[in-house]
Amino acid sequence: TLPKIAWIGLGIMGSPMSENLIKAGYSVTGFTLEQDKLDRLTAAGGTSAASIAEAVEDADVIITMVPASPQVEAISYGPDGILENARQGALIVDMSSITPQTSVDLASSAKEKGIRVIDAPVSGGEAGAIEAVLSIMVGGEKADFDEALPILEALGKTIVLCGPHGSGQTVKAANQLIVAVNIQACAEAVVFLEKSGVDLQAALDVLNGGLAGSTVLTRKKDNFLNRDFKPGFRIDLHHKDMGIVTDAARNVGAALPVGAVVAQLVASLRAQGDGGLDHSALLRAVERLSGQ
Ligand code: NAD
Repeated sequence: TLPKIAWIGLGIMGSPMSENLIKAGYSVTGFTLEQDKLDRLTAAGGTSAASIAEAVEDADVIITMVPASPQVEAISYGPDGILENARQGALIVDMSSITPQTSVDLASSAKEKGIRVIDAPVSGGEAGAIEAVLSIMVGGEKADFDEALPILEALGKTIVLCGPHGSGQTVKAANQLIVAVNIQACAEAVVFLEKSGVDLQAALDVLNGGLAGSTVLTRKKDNFLNRDFKPGFRIDLHHKDMGIVTDAARNVGAALPVGAVVAQLVASLRAQGDGGLDHSALLRAVERLSGQ
């Protein structure tokens, strides 16, 4: 029989991902802060729980998908948290994007309670979550990775064990650096092309066929063309991720000169009240610098 799943955090990513597990035949009991997301889970065939304790008490595998390190700590520790309420031998699969150190610490606290953890952050956005084609970067023990693999295969396409606890998060931090710099490059090109009077749609189409083409340009093209900045992936979350990669790179002595500038532009969007917009709104930062 399939393992019983508890799912904590049913947001932009967690909702469609948990629904993919239900479609694959798993029984999923979920908990999240918004009632409408719990209703969506039950409508999809899952069970909604009234607390974390209720969600995890007889789960074999506990999947967590919350915004950042403080929320992972809030749901994991304390009398109402996962570690106090999960059964011994359970496996936590934390798919949130958090600091590598938080993942390492969680794994060691869990081990004292006989609970296993892998970090398994994802890339591919809301579309990748819906279509179950995410890239999933895992840190932890090989045996735990192997146990989680059939579940992860219902959520993603490229699933790789990157190394010990925290390694998945380190790879995800690199992913976020690449994505931010890529969006910034596209945004600069868009403003340059528009100011030059070139047809933007035509330009982006031909650029995408050459070496300048990218998943970012493909997925974010319509956001740029229509100035549609509905998230997607919120600037607030990318701000968090630029902080993670900047700290982690400093700790190992890796230079991120361009990443540091893009981190500042992401921070400036947030300061101007655009933290709730999609990260393609880096276009706005470039427009402001260009007097638009
Ligand atoms: P979101 O804000 O849409 O969803 C987060 C969910 O966590 C919410 O439903 C909220 O209720 C829940 N939550 C927060 N604190 C909680 C608590 N104490 N108890 C129970 N539930 C709690 O965020 P998202 O866009 O789904 O992102 C989730 C994670 O995935 C983040 O770490 C993000 O960086 C990462 N991520 C997001 C995307 C994307 O495109 N949105 C892509 C890849 C990775």
